[in-house]
Amino acid sequence: MTSPPFDYGRHDEGRGMNYWRHDPALRKEARRVYPEDEFEWAEDRLDEFGAVVGDTIADNADVIDERGPELSTYDERGNVANEVYYHPAQRENERLTYERGVVADAFRPPPGRDEPLGLVHTLTMQLLLSYVDAGFVCPVSMTAGAALVLRNHDEDGHLDDYFEGLTSRNRDDRIEGAMFLTEEQGGSDVGANETVAEPVGDPSETRTYELTGEKWFCSNIDAQGTLVLARRAGAPEGTKGLSLFLVPHETRDGELNDQLYRRLKDKLGTISVPTGEVEFRGAEGHLVGEPERGFEYMTTMLNWERVTNAVGAVGIMGRALVESKVQAANREAFGRPIREYPLMKRDLVEMAVDYEAALAFSLEAGRWLDRYERDRDDREAFRLMRTLTPIAKLRTARMAVENASYAMEIQGGNGYVADFVTHRLLRDAQVLPIWEGTSNVLSLDLLRTLEREDAHEALLPLVEGFLADAEHPYLEPLAETVSEEFASLQEATLALAAGDDDYAQHEAKRLADYVFDVVTASLLLSNAQRELDEDDDARKAVVAERFVRHMLTTPSARGIADRDAPALEHFDAVVRHAPLDPAMLGEPAPADD
Ligand SMILES: Cc1cc2nc3c(=O)[nH]c(=O)nc-3n(C[C@H](O)[C@H](O)[C@H](O)COP(=O)(O)OP(=O)(O)OC[C@H]3O[C@@H](n4cnc5c(N)ncnc54)[C@H](O)[C@@H]3O)c2cc1C
Repeated sequence: MTSPPFDYGRHDEGRGMNYWRHDPALRKEARRVYPEDEFEWAEDRLDEFGAVVGDTIADNADVIDERGPELSTYDERGNVANEVYYHPAQRENERLTYERGVVADAFRPPPGRDEPLGLVHTLTMQLLLSYVDAGFVCPVSMTAGAALVLRNHDEDGHLDDYFEGLTSRNRDDRIEGAMFLTEEQGGSDVGANETVAEPVGDPSETRTYELTGEKWFCSNIDAQGTLVLARRAGAPEGTKGLSLFLVPHETRDGELNDQLYRRLKDKLGTISVPTGEVEFRGAEGHLVGEPERGFEYMTTMLNWERVTNAVGAVGIMGRALVESKVQAANREAFGRPIREYPLMKRDLVEMAVDYEAALAFSLEAGRWLDRYERDRDDREAFRLMRTLTPIAKLRTARMAVENASYAMEIQGGNGYVADFVTHRLLRDAQVLPIWEGTSNVLSLDLLRTLEREDAHEALLPLVEGFLADAEHPYLEPLAETVSEEFASLQEATLALAAGDDDYAQHEAKRLADYVFDVVTASLLLSNAQRELDEDDDARKAVVAERFVRHMLTTPSARGIADRDAPALEHFDAVVRHAPLDPAMLGEPAPADD
């Protein structure tokens, strides 16, 4: 078994390796957020999945990036064909991933268990998958999301056959999900949707409708389990008037649905998922749940998508980090491997801290979402899921762009060339802040949650609980710093809640960042204490210290004259995961703020 401290110089590039084994931070976070019995069952499977992702799926992902899906809108006789061609490498990746239960395990008891696993399992597998193909995480995530919507809202079960397909692990009956919300006149402003739905037959009896209109961004365009928002005649304007329909690629009779896949978008990245424009021309749609509650139902999917976006971002950051470590171990400049230079040591330590911060926060959001989806009466879980989700998506998406960009720089000129994976990482990362809600839209969502759910109150026991864990003398003063910041954060939150709307909106993104910094700092401190207690390892204490210092203090002269350089002292611990003897922890430098 590959064990730390890792020798990244053994690798030519950041693959052909088992990402699960090479990521002790992920393994520990997963152990924290899974229920114990589920983690016990999952551990070997994640280990096996990490190996397949790092090998065959990674190789296929390179092929797919060059030979992405192609659309034939018409056949040779001019009839609508709506046919998407996928390279065999893509088909193989689908099989390798779905058969391993990425979606199925969260909805049906997998082999060896009487109960399904929680959604944190799907999230962890998606995170690993995103190390090699963030584009493919999109259909996987929408498949799970569509299944979740049907499980929660298709109360009379008239769409059970679709639910079965979405949650199947077998190639023969497996289908994928998608969601078509965005229209040309509005993506953020979903209430501006103009697609209409006409009942087929008596409106009081039928659940079948014909949809007419256009959708402007449709990822996984040919999915069989596509959820679509549309408005019935006479329904109110805005999101309140939208109903939700399942609009399949083929009807239950095996006929092509009445829609036209106009063209695929020529995108910067996420090549493996075909994103296109769809014209509904009287397409058959099955009403999900009750009419005019479509947007409410879609929030189930949107929350899920946003957390998966966050773990997707973490996967990209994980790959960017591992590629950078391998490069730094192998590349020589001025006669030495570049990892020996202080600036490069610092770069890698900072990337590792960023990665572990994004990882901890995202899986914490995932933990609450999972808990809520296990019990939708759990108000605490709901409020925390609603608060943490937009922030996780917002912040990690930006972090992924920055880290992918810096990883490109660490590769030097090669990093900018399409032959090297950093090229794809940056292209893929760039969509993360845009789809599933832009940073501004997510910040406004946070404001709404604070107002409607008093979500800041739910943060109180969470953050205080984490801080109370941090008892070690090295961690205690750091916890005090975070505690003071938490008090200031609460003041800021109340000021915005009481303030006028325009000002609150003006500050909303900064508030989201502030919540991220405080919650993450407290969580990393709690994790650090656990690793001290359980593993006698002080590595995470250094990671937590770096995060607190960097995000929540403002040392004089920016700390440049402080002679505080843990990247020089603890490089092997932080970057190569060498265990760190707690006796090596000095006093944390005073927080000069
Ligand atoms: C590759 C890709 C795949 C996609 N796949 C899908 C899909 O499968 N299904 C789907 O439904 N959609 C999909 N989308 C669409 C995506 O969700 C939207 O593009 C996104 O939500 C933004 O909407 P918009 O493009 O209409 O931009 P707009 O809503 O016009 O936003 C433009 C800018 O205005 C800002 N803005 C908007 N409102 C406010 C406000 N109140 N305050 C401050 N700033 C504001 C936004 O932050 C943004 O910066 C996809 C997009 C991409 C790029």
